[in-house]
Amino acid sequence: MQTQFFTAHEIDKAAAILQAGETLAFPTETVYGLGADALNSEAVLKIYAAKSRPRFNPLIVHCASLEQALEQGHFNEMALKLAKRFWPGPLTLVVPLKNKNLSDIALAGLQSVALRVPNHPLALELLRKVNRPIVAPSANPSGFISPTKAFHVHDLNGRIGGILDGGACQVGVESTIVACLDKPVLLRAGGLAREVIEAITGKLEISDELIAPGQLKSHYAPRNPIRLNATSFAKNELVLGFGECEGMSLSRDGNLQEAALNLFAYLRELDSLGQPIAVMPIPSHGLGEAINDRLKRAAT
Ligand code: AMP
Ligand code: MG
Repeated sequence: MQTQFFTAHEIDKAAAILQAGETLAFPTETVYGLGADALNSEAVLKIYAAKSRPRFNPLIVHCASLEQALEQGHFNEMALKLAKRFWPGPLTLVVPLKNKNLSDIALAGLQSVALRVPNHPLALELLRKVNRPIVAPSANPSGFISPTKAFHVHDLNGRIGGILDGGACQVGVESTIVACLDKPVLLRAGGLAREVIEAITGKLEISDELIAPGQLKSHYAPRNPIRLNATSFAKNELVLGFGECEGMSLSRDGNLQEAALNLFAYLRELDSLGQPIAVMPIPSHGLGEAINDRLKRAAT
């Protein structure tokens, strides 16, 4: 398959790819997503094939607006409150399924649906133009490092319909996932800090080791070995640091938002050098929770 490349000015052509039932990589504020029409199982299957993603791993449905999201799932009071407060934004809500026309394959057969309205102007414009819910996991081969810049998506060249280039993402890690089936439960740490959500929900219950269905213990993996919480370093090790340090720092001023934004791009850069990587300790509050979660999976 020939992958077509689009700039922001060519968004109409990019939207046509999705409408034609093909896959399109597009930017969101978290990471680049690989999109397909959520109502078209044939299109959705192309995502699983391009990523070699296990079929039991359900996809997040991206909507242009809260109104569109309300057509897909049943929102309880808390879900509605969270959606109104944090959408568009890096928060995914899992709610009981309402729209039975959503592809079963996208839902991996579940009776619930994961929904998000992304906070990215190009993504929102695309979703509005396509005028359909769009499933979009990260645009990388399953198990590898997520893409935060358009050129990172080139790992999928020849396997997807197109790439819409919208520059670098602004958050850099995937969305936080909260299930609102009964009481709200944190399923995955991500781009919206848990503390910010808990200001509304109160202390969140945490699912078993923060594992939502289909999430893999080993994920985001570089090709070279990676060691965490390193405080001393071997000669051949490349350092991924935090704060002032020798080597590459995720954020010289110790800013966790900046660190999240740099995480995947720096991992890719270090990995391309072909040596083992040693990562310094990173605080666990705020976006540190998501950073440490991704690093743990990368090291497994
Ligand atoms: P991603 O791989 O970033 O697209 O995120 C998709 C993740 O969302 C999956 O791995 C699941 O863990 C989670 N997810 C999607 N749908 C559901 C659902 N219905 N119930 C619980 N978790 C879900
Ligand atoms: Mg992913």
